[in-house]
Amino acid sequence: MEMKMKDVLNATSFRFNKALGQNFISDTNLLKGIVADSGVKEGDVVVEIGTGAGTLTRQIAEVAKKVYSFEVDKNLIPVHELSLQGLDNVDVIFRDVLKMKDDEFKSIVGDGEFKVVANLPYYITTPLIMRFLESDLKVTSLTIMVQEEVGRRLVAKPNTPDYSAITLAVLLRGSATITRKVNRNMFYPAPNVDSAVVRIDVEEGKLDGEDKALVHRLVRSAFAMRRKTLVNNLNASMGLTKAEATEKLQNAGLDERVRGEALSLEDYIRLSHQF
Ligand code: SAM
Repeated sequence: MEMKMKDVLNATSFRFNKALGQNFISDTNLLKGIVADSGVKEGDVVVEIGTGAGTLTRQIAEVAKKVYSFEVDKNLIPVHELSLQGLDNVDVIFRDVLKMKDDEFKSIVGDGEFKVVANLPYYITTPLIMRFLESDLKVTSLTIMVQEEVGRRLVAKPNTPDYSAITLAVLLRGSATITRKVNRNMFYPAPNVDSAVVRIDVEEGKLDGEDKALVHRLVRSAFAMRRKTLVNNLNASMGLTKAEATEKLQNAGLDERVRGEALSLEDYIRLSHQF
C-alpha cells in the first residue's frame, strides 16, 4: 500500500537538508506527467539522480523495466523502506554519479542503453548534463527538472541572451525541448524559483564525419569570454593570430566582428572546416 509522502516523512522524522537541494514532489499527476514526458516505456532501463523520498522513483518503476536511482543522503534510507516498499525493480545507490568514472557506472547500470529521468538539485544541473553528454555512456535521453531560467538556456536560439555554451553542448549531441513548466508551489518545501521539465534527446551519429573534438574546442573558446568577439576569443585560446582568425572567419562566410553567441551549430561546423 502506497503511503502519502508527508506521512512517510513524518513517520521517519526526516529532516530536510537544504544544502542538498531537497525540494520534493508528491503530486501524482505531475510525477506521472514527468514520466510521460520522458517517453519511458516497458523494457527501458532508467537512471534517476536524486531519489529524495522516492516519489518519482515509484512512478518510473511502474513503467520501466529497471530503475537505478542515485542519492547521496543516507538519512533517506528509512524513508525509502516505506516509500519504495514492494518495488522489486528499483536499486537505490548511495553514490554521486558526478564523481564516478564510466567504468564504475557501467559496473552498476550495465553497458546497455538507458534514459535519465530526474528532479535534480539545481546546482548540479549543468555538470550532470555534461557528465552524460560528454561520455560514451549509451544514454538516449535526459528528462530533467531545471530552473525555468536554465530551461530557457537549454532551448535558446542563436543571437538571444539565453544562448550559451550549454545550449551548444546539447546541440552537439542532440536537441532539447521544454515539455512543461512547473510552479514552485508543486515542491515541498517550495524553492524560490519556478521550474521547467526539459527533455534532451540524443541523436545517434550526430556530427559523425566531423572533427567533434575541434568543434567542441571552438564552442568552448567562443564562449570563454562572452563579451569578446570571436576573433579575440580564437586569438586568446586557439593559438591563432588575429589575422589568421579573421581569415578563417571570412573563409567560413562569417563577419569578422561576430561574437560566438551569434553562431549556430552549423556555423561552428563550417568554421571547423577551416582548420
Ligand atoms: N526526486 C525527488 C523528488 O522528485 O521529489 C527528489 C528531488 S530533490 C530536488 C533532489 C535530491 O537529490 C535530494 O534528495 C538530494 O539529497 C539529492 N542529491 C543532491 N546531490 C546529489 C548528487 N550529487 N547525486 C545524487 N543525488 C543528489
